[in-house]
Amino acid sequence: MYCVCEEHLARAIDEFLEIYEMPPDIYVLEEVSFTDWSAPSHCDFCGKIPEFLVV
Ligand SMILES: [Zn+2]
Repeated sequence: MYCVCEEHLARAIDEFLEIYEMPPDIYVLEEVSFTDWSAPSHCDFCGKIPEFLVV
């Protein structure tokens, strides 16, 4: 699972494909909420606020 900014969305998808060999589901973080999970405060690849969830 990746939480990434727009800039790193493609990279997260690439890594996901490499690891899981199937395309990920991509969610806009603002539009999803999970009761027992809160989004990290920064992108997995940089310090920006994450915008997308790649799972
Ligand atoms: Zn980033």
